[in-house]
Amino acid sequence: MHVEAFTFNSFMTNCYLCYDDGEAVLIDASCASDAERQEVLRVIDENDLELRHLLLTHAHVDHIFGCQFFESRFDMTFKAHEAAVPFIERADEQAEAFGVEVEPPTVPTTFLAEGDTVSFGTVTLDVLHTPGHSPDSISFVHSDSQQAVTGDVLFQNSIGRTQGLPETSRSQLLNSITEKLLPLGDEMRIYPGHGPETTIGRERHQNPFVKEALGGTDEGVGWRGPTGAGR
Ligand SMILES: [Zn+2]
Ligand SMILES: [Zn+2]
Repeated sequence: MHVEAFTFNSFMTNCYLCYDDGEAVLIDASCASDAERQEVLRVIDENDLELRHLLLTHAHVDHIFGCQFFESRFDMTFKAHEAAVPFIERADEQAEAFGVEVEPPTVPTTFLAEGDTVSFGTVTLDVLHTPGHSPDSISFVHSDSQQAVTGDVLFQNSIGRTQGLPETSRSQLLNSITEKLLPLGDEMRIYPGHGPETTIGRERHQNPFVKEALGGTDEGVGWRGPTGAGR
């Protein structure tokens, strides 16, 4: 599975175009401008890809920019966790809270839950429900190539934000990391919703929040994470 990463909009949100054998999925479109949309379209054209699914790791406003554009332009299915629906319905409110504007996407046509799969090309992605940062947070895992797109759950040296956002739970988030992501194994490459890609092994050994959750050292106490991370 090829993964093309883009970083878009004022929240510096990562968008991933994953493709294999001429077919693609777009995870978290995140495109807030025409230039950003064109960037994704160029990669689709250059690789002659058929877009099969539009996927959301979760429906926070920074991840749903551009969904409406791709949804209306391509014949594909829009999939997210069912708990994304109220967030999409309140997209205007979310945008207003952050002082931005968003074209609200239509509600996803198919819901994904723990244990579901998403297929394109020769790839099958496994869906994990990884709530805490938001109730609808899901992760997409490709075991064969050891790659996972995990949204705002686990970042390089940080974790998803659980303050100042509705329906968050820090303990649930840490549980998602320790019970769902860490078992994927140290070699698993993680493509997060913000910041650079990382691996489970790196975060298990260096991420102060993960170490704290695992009951290791107290190194992480008081560490507040990089500015802007965790949206
Ligand atoms: Zn985000
Ligand atoms: Zn988020």
